[in-house]
Amino acid sequence: MSNISNIPLVDVKQQNEELREELQDAFSRVLSSGAYVLGNEVTTFEAEIAQYTQSQHAIGVSSGTDALLLSLMALGIQAGDEVICPTFTFFATAGVISRLGAVPVFCDIYPCCYNISVDDIEHKITEKTKAIIAVHLFGQSANMDEINRIAKQHNIYVIEDAAQALGCRYKGRAVGSLGDCGIFSFYPTKNLGTMGDSGMIVTNNEEFADKARILRVHGASQQYFHEEVGGNFRIDAIHAAILRVKLRHIERYHSARQINAKAIHESLRQYDNVHWSTTYYRSTNRTDSILLDDQQGFLLPSTLPGNKHIYNQFTIRVKGKGQRDSLRRLLSQNNIASAIYYPLCLHLQPCFRTNSTGGDNIKNAIAASEEVLSLPVYPEMTFEQMHHMIDILESFLKT
Ligand SMILES: *Cc1c(COP(=O)(O)O)cnc(C)c1O
Repeated sequence: MSNISNIPLVDVKQQNEELREELQDAFSRVLSSGAYVLGNEVTTFEAEIAQYTQSQHAIGVSSGTDALLLSLMALGIQAGDEVICPTFTFFATAGVISRLGAVPVFCDIYPCCYNISVDDIEHKITEKTKAIIAVHLFGQSANMDEINRIAKQHNIYVIEDAAQALGCRYKGRAVGSLGDCGIFSFYPTKNLGTMGDSGMIVTNNEEFADKARILRVHGASQQYFHEEVGGNFRIDAIHAAILRVKLRHIERYHSARQINAKAIHESLRQYDNVHWSTTYYRSTNRTDSILLDDQQGFLLPSTLPGNKHIYNQFTIRVKGKGQRDSLRRLLSQNNIASAIYYPLCLHLQPCFRTNSTGGDNIKNAIAASEEVLSLPVYPEMTFEQMHHMIDILESFLKT
């Protein structure tokens, strides 16, 4: 169980153990129903997610990656089309673009919230641009008003990759409901995680929802009659049943993560070499000078005004050459896990070398990839574990 001398990055086993009885009831319900793929359990779960995300339609699918792929297919993205996305995100965001023969157009990020830079989007729109995938990285919303404004001006689609941000709010509105469609992942380490893979698409566009539902089952609106080539993107009933149990606890998980994030913030920001900013939407501000000079210390993650951050990751930047590695070593000597999300920008990945654009003049994302470190803030982390970790972080800052 929880152990002060061993702090993992997440503890999905403990989270599920706490719900053992509720989960066993759910397993048993699915077992007796005989409906194991799609079916009533899925329809009910879809309605619950639609309500939670302030969306009219929800379509359960096999993974977050498949939710992205299916969204692009339902929007009619084809070979040769350009799709804009950040270079600093999980691979799936861009991988799905390439899988359709379309071209990922990589954009830089803002230095403090790690989300896509609107200035850079404006530079990289061409007459071939068909869509923007806005990622709500680490659990807080991208700059959606601006992204929607640009998209409207150029008549292009907006897909929200909210794989890390289910339950996150932007100016009081649910992410996923702000663009043409939004996607979620229920991979075990997301804020709402199942015991396997599954995902969801949400939308307020009925025509899009119908198309996605048909493509989810091999493009057949009537079984064995195929208008289009779709795929098997179906979600299993067992995941819907597990996730319905856990959805009842999601606000508690978010709150615990927020309390943990706040504890780190409040303890560390008294140090001279710790910085943070809430004004990271322009590239010329005070934060840039903090970021670009050679000083040592931490840059803490900041929450944009109007955002509810759900801290799927609590990601700091460790300034100074070799400092991130030193901190990781110190944490690991004390049995505290940490992770680098993400160590190599997508525009620099070998697989995108020849079939992407936009990679030149990317600066903030590369600097971030050299400095970021994600620290444990998972809901089951105890007060003692948190303060043990803060002690270690403080000892690092004092050396
Ligand atoms: C996890 C994740 C995905 C993919 O979700 P899977 O369910 O693992 O396929 C896509 N985008 C982002 C930003 C993610 O974090």
